[in-house]
Amino acid sequence: MTVNIGVIGTGAIGRDHMRRITQTLAGGAIVAVSDVNRGAAEASLAALDLDGEVFATGAELVASPKVDAVLVTSWGGAHEPDVLSAVKAGKPVFCEKPLATTAQGCRNIVEAEIAGGRRLVQVGFMRRYDAGYRMLKTMIDAGTIGAPLMVHGAHRNPTVGANYTTDMAIHDTLIHEIDVLRWLLDDDYRSVQVVFPRRTPNAREGLRDPQVVMIETVKGVRIDVEIFVNCVYGYDIQCEIVGETGIARLPEPMSIQTRSGARLSNEILVDWKDRFIDSYDVELKDFLAAAARGTASGPTAWDGFAAAVAADACVKAQGSGAIEPVAMPERPAFYAFGA
Ligand code: NAP
Repeated sequence: MTVNIGVIGTGAIGRDHMRRITQTLAGGAIVAVSDVNRGAAEASLAALDLDGEVFATGAELVASPKVDAVLVTSWGGAHEPDVLSAVKAGKPVFCEKPLATTAQGCRNIVEAEIAGGRRLVQVGFMRRYDAGYRMLKTMIDAGTIGAPLMVHGAHRNPTVGANYTTDMAIHDTLIHEIDVLRWLLDDDYRSVQVVFPRRTPNAREGLRDPQVVMIETVKGVRIDVEIFVNCVYGYDIQCEIVGETGIARLPEPMSIQTRSGARLSNEILVDWKDRFIDSYDVELKDFLAAAARGTASGPTAWDGFAAAVAADACVKAQGSGAIEPVAMPERPAFYAFGA
């Protein structure tokens, strides 16, 4: 069965997912697009030589009988109404992170999905589909290193754009660690604190970089994640789980080791797009397979909500310097067997 997909938001990642569905993956076809900029929507179809329909609004695209399932890849502030429309229409919807820009917006989607009685939402937390993180999870779940006690992580970018602000380090950058660590540990967060080391002179005026986020989970695991978005040397994601009887580390991306000029070396990536390129394919393959069954799998709307609640607490902690609680309500039974 071919799942007919409508894409709302034909910017960078929207076009990339359209290419993926059209040229790399089986089981899906792009039949409709919508973007606030109609020209961009038309160009996205032309670039792939597609004969889809262009809709003026996301709501009209969702309502079209031609559309079986929806990709929401617009600007984060626009996600909530379109995801809600898809859920209310009973159509599977893949939404890039953030699910919504506020915890309440995510909660609205959770409640609509529960009211419909069927899983329909997948959030684009693609790290859960990365081969390295999956190996790490398999090892943790098998008990190979005993129960996790501590996690040391780092999220480093060589540089960031001029509009990157201190709180974006949480909402745009740490958000991936917030989700993937919660999934790896099968745990929720209790409290967070953010501290700022000596500032790098490579950060633009007004941006506090680096920062260290410390998180305590409900089970008592202590997590520290360094966010350093002007590290200069490369795009580098690190994750080390310290367990009762051993340590497990996220594997480094594959790279050719060279011996040259009296040096033994491996390359480090510089572009974030290259680091998780395979996981974008796998997450959308999962979406297409579930959508063909009229449902969704992978990261849930509840996971999107949990990430928003933790991120809000981190932003508060950036300002207060204090340990801030993460006030998560109890997980509804509906999401008990989520991703
Ligand atoms: P982008 O290039 O700016 O694309 C967003 C597109 O959506 C633009 O064409 C924008 O039009 C359009 N748009 C804005 N509001 C809309 C609306 N109400 N209806 C329809 N289209 C609308 O941004 P991007 O990099 O593709 O990011 C899109 C989303 O994906 C963001 O939420 C981002 O956080 C997420 N993302 C996730 C990852 C990941 O690793 N999972 C990576 C990159 C991005 P204008 O340009 O005219 O405003």
